[in-house]
Amino acid sequence: MGDLRSTVAVIPCDDYDEEKVYRSLKTGIDALGGIECFVRPDEKILVKPNLLSAATPDKALTTHPSVLKAVLRILNEYGCDDVKLGDSPGHGSCEGAVRTLGLKEAEMSGAVITPMNEEIHVNFADGITCRDFYFCKEILESDAIINVCKMKTHALERITGAVKNVYGFICGYRKAQGHVKFPNDTVFARMLADIHRYTKPRLHIMDGIVAMEGNGPAAGTPVNMNVLIVSDDPVAVDTVFCYLINLDPEIVPTNSQGMRMGIGNDEEEKIDILLCQNNDTVKLSPGELFAMLGKGDYDVSRKRPPKSFLSRYSGLMTRLQKRPVIDRSLCVKCGICVDHCPVPGKAVDFKNGKDKPPVYDYSKCIRCYCCQEMCPRHAIKPGRGII
Ligand code: SF4
Ligand code: SF4
Repeated sequence: MGDLRSTVAVIPCDDYDEEKVYRSLKTGIDALGGIECFVRPDEKILVKPNLLSAATPDKALTTHPSVLKAVLRILNEYGCDDVKLGDSPGHGSCEGAVRTLGLKEAEMSGAVITPMNEEIHVNFADGITCRDFYFCKEILESDAIINVCKMKTHALERITGAVKNVYGFICGYRKAQGHVKFPNDTVFARMLADIHRYTKPRLHIMDGIVAMEGNGPAAGTPVNMNVLIVSDDPVAVDTVFCYLINLDPEIVPTNSQGMRMGIGNDEEEKIDILLCQNNDTVKLSPGELFAMLGKGDYDVSRKRPPKSFLSRYSGLMTRLQKRPVIDRSLCVKCGICVDHCPVPGKAVDFKNGKDKPPVYDYSKCIRCYCCQEMCPRHAIKPGRGII
């Protein structure tokens, strides 16, 4: 971003009442100049939620339907008539995830649900860490993308928000392969930044009304954070999320690498935080924001990464990271974790037979946490690292 400053609108909103969410979101977008600053009515627009898997809204696993309806209504009122809503879930279909959310096409202000299961290979000569992608066709067919992410914890990257949500631009099973190609939190974050550099979403909206803490991004605990966060800078959105939970933004790889690769700002002096409340907009410091809306005991990993000289030894770094552990009492032996493990030869498998829970081979495991994300019984949790 160089010397460019970023502006982030933070809008308090304490429940998912549709009218309240619409008014709050509109206030936030208006504080940034209005929807006309981000899209034109004649453009093909893709609204990209977080639909990690089929889950009801109370689980806080996916973007809430009230937030999606508000985005679609704002676009419709502005005259946008070619609007699609879609994602490529890691497990299951986009239509199934939308259905489970309870979102009906009739309530989507003229937008249509798009399945996002066809891929197109693209070369990216300007890629810094990744020079080719398999994107969902709809990503390439859109003129403008609006990224509507969910405020959650993440086992690999500590948090998932605006930067991480673009991984859904990669088609289904290719996502698991990406973890093998980019096998640690830093290179994975750099690959995500390259996705932003290629696709350039115009606007980022974070649903933090009810967030997820603890064992995210799929098996954590819903927690009231009572905010929407809006900006054209994805790193600044995630940085403001960090301010709200007293997490140093610099130790989040998607922030630090995103800043280094030029997709946004994670430095306090380059971010203007606008609190939009009661028809008023005031500028706040991170400390003032935390005092008003923060939650210091939000359950997220605040452990600082090992010293930089250790980071030269990537194998050692992987072994120091928390390892996935199966709670045998919750496991139903479905094998979904085995199916989604991207490592050749599988780092988790039914070594003791299919009538017993799978077991890990930690010497092969790259700590990508695909198994934890996909386990339908939330039986997999991060345990201690090993040497
Ligand atoms: S996905 Fe979860 S429930 Fe299924 S086998 Fe793996 S640990 Fe057990
Ligand atoms: S076992 Fe789990 S964390 Fe390890 S490589 Fe396989 S999917 Fe990733």
